[in-house]
Amino acid sequence: MKLAVIGTGYVGLVTGTCLAEVGHDVTCVDIDSNKINKLKSGQIPIYEPGLDKLVKSNYEAGRLHFTTDLETIGQPQAIFFALPTPPNGDGEADLSFVLKASKDVAKILKTYTVLINKSTVPIGTAQKVHDIIKSNTKAPFDVVSNPEFLREGFAIEDFMKPDRIVVGTTSAKASKIMAKIYEPFTKNGAQLFVMDTASSEMTKYAANSFLAIKLSFMNEVANLCELLGANVDQVKKGIGTDTRIGSKFLNAGIGYGGSCFPKDVMALEKIAQHNNYDFKLLKTVMQVNDRQKHILANKITAVYGKDLSGKTFAVWGLAFKPDTDDIREAPSLEIIRELVSCGAVIKAYDPEATANVHRIMGDTIIYSLTAKEALEGADALLVATEWEEFINFDPKVIAKEVRDKTVFDGRNIFDPPAMAKAGLKYHSIGRPQK
Ligand code: NAD
Repeated sequence: MKLAVIGTGYVGLVTGTCLAEVGHDVTCVDIDSNKINKLKSGQIPIYEPGLDKLVKSNYEAGRLHFTTDLETIGQPQAIFFALPTPPNGDGEADLSFVLKASKDVAKILKTYTVLINKSTVPIGTAQKVHDIIKSNTKAPFDVVSNPEFLREGFAIEDFMKPDRIVVGTTSAKASKIMAKIYEPFTKNGAQLFVMDTASSEMTKYAANSFLAIKLSFMNEVANLCELLGANVDQVKKGIGTDTRIGSKFLNAGIGYGGSCFPKDVMALEKIAQHNNYDFKLLKTVMQVNDRQKHILANKITAVYGKDLSGKTFAVWGLAFKPDTDDIREAPSLEIIRELVSCGAVIKAYDPEATANVHRIMGDTIIYSLTAKEALEGADALLVATEWEEFINFDPKVIAKEVRDKTVFDGRNIFDPPAMAKAGLKYHSIGRPQK
């Protein structure tokens, strides 16, 4: 099928590439000419494992195209919107990108087209998009909601083998086209649920908010474990094996970040407010997460005092999670800012996200080229992201390099007895120190 994707960021590029991989002819559009030029010359603007190879093979096979010019996409049977919906000043989802693109797309429609919204949007957006398009075209069309559930770092796997595909539409014609687009996936066992657009739009917010609540619940349990001498690792085993609970999203840490959870929880709470509903759980989860982001800095000042001048901390991990270079709302940044404001010097290392952090923090911190280099001359080590290379790092090397032989681990990547054996003072989240 001939398809187009408007917005070639994380979601758009992965969507376009994976749809090309299963045989569709896909044109990805973006207003960022720098991004499109990079893609045309074989460079991938984001770090996402496996994406580079897939983009290259599909581009070379002539199934994947990149353009900044909407006029050149021809008449695809369906057009996906994968546009940003960042929070506006009030915490609501800013729909201006989606609405502007809808108006632009309306002007090029000639034959029946399905407009598919993959962006995370407030309930009722499909209708808004429908109204804008209707007032700018005479061509027949349907607007469909099709939220995306991929995880950065596993985006290809998630798109190619989705737990489920959610489609929001009441149009039989659009439904048929959606089934055809996703046939290569459903043939392989993926479930496709068709529902009304409001339920589909709500499904995405409900999924992210639930996961944020699950993580935050475990963070609170971990904090209490510390006070009571319990071990959150054991508690995780004890509850995660209960199939009603499930073992995923139970890792205690320094709070959730990223481009989705913080903004989606905030947006759903705003939607509730606008509908005179007091969504108490969501309000609390935001407070819990804000508090959790300070946990590691609090542990550090408890050891070193509030004046950290003359102290140097190695920080391992800047991305909001491993296997991505995304630093949006990353807890690491908040911790670094807090320590810098107390006078500390920061030597940071991340396998992929350094350039992105340099763009916003400039030379206020030192950037190291390797994990070991960050340790050299540091008083203590802080772990903010659980990259595989940190998990596999030899604790004896940390003990040799770090002056105070102290580690503050915000992601519980090390085994406390192994750290004690290496002669390290080890502070983690919700676990006894030894
Ligand atoms: P992104 O910022 O990485 O990409 C958006 C792209 O859209 C950018 O490249 C931007 O230049 C482009 N753009 C903006 N206006 C445009 C226009 N008028 N025409 C063409 N291109 C335009 O965003 P993202 O992370 O891909 O997120 C997109 C949506 O998907 C958001 O609503 C997000 O909440 C949702 N989502 C994201 C993820 C994720 O893990 N990133 C997962 C699921 C859902």
